[in-house]
Amino acid sequence: MNYEVNIEKSVLEKLPEVVQNTLGTLQTENVIVKGGIARLALLEYLVQQGKYIQPWRLEREREPRDIDLMLPHFNTLPRDWTDLSNSANSIKEKLSANIQLRVDFEPFKASPNAIERILSTRDLTINEVVLSFNNGVWKIFYTQNCWRDIIVGIGMLTSGGKKLIRYDYGRMLPTNYGFFRLFRLWVEGKVERIYLPPWWLSTHFQEVERLGKERFGNYALVIAHQYKNATLQIKERWSLVLNKLGFTDLSYLPTLQQEQEFLYDIKNNQSFAFEEERPFSQVIEQMIKEEQERQEAKQQRNAQMRQCRHTFKTFECHECAYDCKIQRCDCGRIVKPTENELPCNWIFKTSNWPSNTNSLLSFPRQKMVLRTPQ
Ligand SMILES: [Zn+2]
Ligand SMILES: [Zn+2]
Repeated sequence: MNYEVNIEKSVLEKLPEVVQNTLGTLQTENVIVKGGIARLALLEYLVQQGKYIQPWRLEREREPRDIDLMLPHFNTLPRDWTDLSNSANSIKEKLSANIQLRVDFEPFKASPNAIERILSTRDLTINEVVLSFNNGVWKIFYTQNCWRDIIVGIGMLTSGGKKLIRYDYGRMLPTNYGFFRLFRLWVEGKVERIYLPPWWLSTHFQEVERLGKERFGNYALVIAHQYKNATLQIKERWSLVLNKLGFTDLSYLPTLQQEQEFLYDIKNNQSFAFEEERPFSQVIEQMIKEEQERQEAKQQRNAQMRQCRHTFKTFECHECAYDCKIQRCDCGRIVKPTENELPCNWIFKTSNWPSNTNSLLSFPRQKMVLRTPQ
């Protein structure tokens, strides 16, 4: 279920100046605001409604790192490609006149239920919130799960986001990218706890071992790039999280990064380099290409499955505590125990962490400081 509320002037006035200026500039543009600014607007609205939000979380959100915008396209992506990159450039230019924040764009297909679809494809429940300017007023749109989790500060991955999930014997597990998105807000102090069943980690580690891959892919390098200007504390928190959860036995992030860079160079026979801020038009191009590849891979898989004379073996999923029994053929065809979804997937699909609160994990916000008694 989704909600829609107006941002009253009294709430707008509580937003930091940079956010007020951003929203002022965007009023005349056909965009949807997501990310940190949308979360902050919802938090300030909830505070005004008398909800208690931990002050340190509000504080973190009051310093946005970037402006996340969504741009509508009316025809297919390839057809609207030029229009989209033109309007992205023009918005960027207008904003840069008095705002020094990075601006990121994501295209979406315009339709009467676009907001609903956008909300159902976010990576975490607390990101299921967007702002849109209609009839002279900024409105906040958010889901019920977002409302539940943003108040208490819980990070829960959703199953609807892109590239966040892979299937392991029919069970949904986060990809490295999914883990990265989940840990990110935790490290930055924007959530207090995250939903992380222990079997997600054990199964993930088993699988990477089987494939001879890195436990966190190239994500130590992604962190090095995205957090190069972050505070020392944030960098240390990344090391701590990855170390505690078993993604690395190295307790010092730069060492892990050096190790990954080294491995990357050997494997790819070239030095690792991050492209600096890819232009929006390249992002769209990439999206079009990926969609084509996805379709092709899917057709190939389906063709293989059609030809296979399945021989099913039973796989029992004990780790998730629901003892799911799954029949699986080597071609990838899966028969689930009932007509319904697997119990462990069901929690994921409905973002229903309250039915498994044992899997909520907290992480120290700040290093413990031992005070000497006065
Ligand atoms: Zn088969
Ligand atoms: Zn299960």
